[in-house]
Amino acid sequence: MDRYALIIDGGKVETPEYRAVINPADGSVVGQMPLATAAELDRVVDAARRAFPEWRDTSDERRKALCRAVADALEEKKEELARLLTAEQGKPLAKLGSRFEMDGAIGWTRATAELNLPIEVIEEAADGRVEVHRKPIGVVGSITPWNYPVMIGCWHVIPAIRAGNTVVIKPSPLTPLATIRMVEIMNTVLPRGVVNVITGDDDLAAEMSRHQGFDKMVFTGSTATGKKVMASAVDTLKRLTLELGGNDAGIVLPDVDIASAAEGIFWGAFLNNGQTCAALKRLYVHECVYDDVCDELVRIAGTAKTGNGLEADTVFGPVQNKAQFDHVSELVNDARANGGRVLVGGNPLGGDGYFYPITLVADVDNGVRLVDEEQFGPVLPIIRYATVDEALQKANASPFGLGGSVWSSDLAAAKALASKLECGSAWVNNHGAIQPNAPFGGVKQSGIGVEFGAEGLKEFTVVQTVFS
Ligand code: NAD
Repeated sequence: MDRYALIIDGGKVETPEYRAVINPADGSVVGQMPLATAAELDRVVDAARRAFPEWRDTSDERRKALCRAVADALEEKKEELARLLTAEQGKPLAKLGSRFEMDGAIGWTRATAELNLPIEVIEEAADGRVEVHRKPIGVVGSITPWNYPVMIGCWHVIPAIRAGNTVVIKPSPLTPLATIRMVEIMNTVLPRGVVNVITGDDDLAAEMSRHQGFDKMVFTGSTATGKKVMASAVDTLKRLTLELGGNDAGIVLPDVDIASAAEGIFWGAFLNNGQTCAALKRLYVHECVYDDVCDELVRIAGTAKTGNGLEADTVFGPVQNKAQFDHVSELVNDARANGGRVLVGGNPLGGDGYFYPITLVADVDNGVRLVDEEQFGPVLPIIRYATVDEALQKANASPFGLGGSVWSSDLAAAKALASKLECGSAWVNNHGAIQPNAPFGGVKQSGIGVEFGAEGLKEFTVVQTVFS
C-alpha cells in the first residue's frame, strides 16, 4: 500500500513510523500515513519560518498570481484528489460528494486569490496622515477535521498565504492523505516552505498548538478540542481563528410551502451525511404542519441511497469513522428510549462499512440528548412547537451558535425571526448556503473569528497604524 510522506520545505520527508488509513466503506487500507515526531514538528516550523521573510516581501500581484496557479494545479488533479477523498472520507464521488468538495476548494481558492487588503486612510490633514496597514502575522498553524479535508484545507491555507503568511497544515489523522497530496500539488507552483504538511495523531496536534514557533493557529473541529487550542495559545498569545461545533436549529413556520421547503430542509440537514458543521441539526415545526412536514421528509429520505461512494447511484456514503458511527447510534437509541418515534432509519445497515441510514426522529424535545448535543451524522430530530416564541426560545437554548434558519412563505416575517436567532449565519428558506465573499463563523461556543471574504482575510493579518 502507498506510503505517503510529509511535505517540508518543498520536499518529501519520511518518518520513523506509519499508520494505516482505513476506508470507512469497506475497512480496506487506503494508504500509510506518516507519524511525525517532535523532531519533524521542529523541522517543519523551521522551514516555514525560513520561508516567511521572502514570502512576506513578495509583491501582492505575485502572490495573487501564485494563488491562481494553485487553483489551476488543483483543477488539473481534481479527479485524482476526488477519488482519494472518497476512499479515505467515504463521501460519494459524484452528487454532492468529493467532486463537489473539489469544486468548492478550487472555487474558494480562485475567489480568495482576488481579494485585496488596501491601505485604509483614517485621516488626511495638513499636519499629518493616519493610515491602517494590514501585515502578515508570520507562521500559521492549521488544524483541520475529517468532514471536508481538502475544502477546509484550502479555506485555511489560501487566505493565509494570500495575506503573506507561511503555513504548516495538519489534517485529521482519519483523513490525512488527500491533504498530503493537496500540499504536494500546491508545492509544484509555490516557493518551497510556503505551505508544508505534517501528519500524526492527536498528540502531535496538541504539541503543535503548544509550539512556540507558530504566530497564529486556525483550527476547525469540535468545540472541546477548540478550547484546548485556545488554552495552548496563552503562553505566546498566538492569534486564533476557531471554527467549532454547531447544533443549528431550523424553525418551520405555519405558513410554510411544504412542497418547496422540504427539499431544502432535507439537504440542509443531510449534506455530507449530516457531517457538516453548519448542517441543520434540530428542526422545530409548528404543530399545524408537523405531520405533513414529517411525511414529506420521509418521502425524500426514501429516494436517497446510502452505500459505497464509488457506486454511481450512491447519494450518502458511510459515517466516516467508528467513534462517530457509535455516537450516532447511541443518540438514536437514547432518543427512542426517551419517547422518540423513529419515522425512517434508526438502525445500522450492517456490512463491512460504517453505514447508517438517513434517520428521522419525531416527538422529541429539548432535554433529549439527540436535540441538545451535536449529532454530526445522518439523523435529524423533529420537534413540535405551538408558538413562535416557544420555538425561538428553544432554538436559542444552546451553547452553540453557528447557523440557523427560518422556513416560511412570508419572507419579511421569516427574516425578522431569523435575525433573532443567536448564530453567526441566519438563512431564510435555506440552510447551509455559504459563499467565498460572505463572512462565515460562529458565535457563543461555535467559534471565534470568521472565514471568507475580506473579513476572513483580515484574520490572517495584524494591524499597523502608521502616523506620518
Ligand atoms: P476534532 O476536534 O476531534 O478534531 C479536529 C482536529 O483537531 C483534528 O485534526 C485532530 O487531530 C485535532 N486535535 C485533536 N486533539 C487536539 C489537541 N489537543 N489540540 C489541537 N488539535 C487537536 O473534530 P473532528 O471530529 O475532526 O470534526 C468534527 C467537528 O468539527 C464537529 O464538531 C464539527 O461541527 C466541527 N466542524 C466545524 C466547522 C466550522 O467551520 N465551524 C467545520 C467543520 C467541522
